[in-house]
Amino acid sequence: MNKAIFVDKDGTLLVDVPYNVDPSRMEFYEGARESLRQLQEHGFLIIVVTNQSGVARGFFTEEAVINVGNVVATELANYCVTLDGFYFCPHHPAGSVAAYARPCNCRKPAPGMLLRAAEDFNIDLQNSWMIGNSLDDVAAGRRAGCFTLLISDTETTRDRAGSIPPTATATSLSEAAAIVLENQRVLV
Ligand SMILES: [Zn+2]
Repeated sequence: MNKAIFVDKDGTLLVDVPYNVDPSRMEFYEGARESLRQLQEHGFLIIVVTNQSGVARGFFTEEAVINVGNVVATELANYCVTLDGFYFCPHHPAGSVAAYARPCNCRKPAPGMLLRAAEDFNIDLQNSWMIGNSLDDVAAGRRAGCFTLLISDTETTRDRAGSIPPTATATSLSEAAAIVLENQRVLV
């Protein structure tokens, strides 16, 4: 079986520009691509899982999101990282586009995108990590059975005390990668 790093896109891998699908405004955090390369070198699949309710809200199309995924893949390839998967949830219960305006099992904190990827790539979820900047990422990861890493200042965590705590916290994807690799040594 494979092990994977599930990584959130906005605010984790890319600087968060709300509802952006314009490639010219996509900016990776410093060191983020290098960190994913390091993780991939240690045998992890790299899979982006992202909520894209802008589709349900009528801000952009699924095709625009797929294009964003292609741009991410190209940018990562420039750093010798293979993007193994790009999963997005286009839904939102309060959306304005009928086809997408419904509850679903893929919008984080639901674990649907991780579960689907696990089937597609034969992933051992219990040896995989979900890395994200929101407690919804943590909840999705935990529900899927993964280790979880919250990239955050303490503020976010304090706001929602009582939610499922992450396995670990970090201030950047680089720090997160170091923690994952450190834990690998302990767990193997
Ligand atoms: Zn969904």
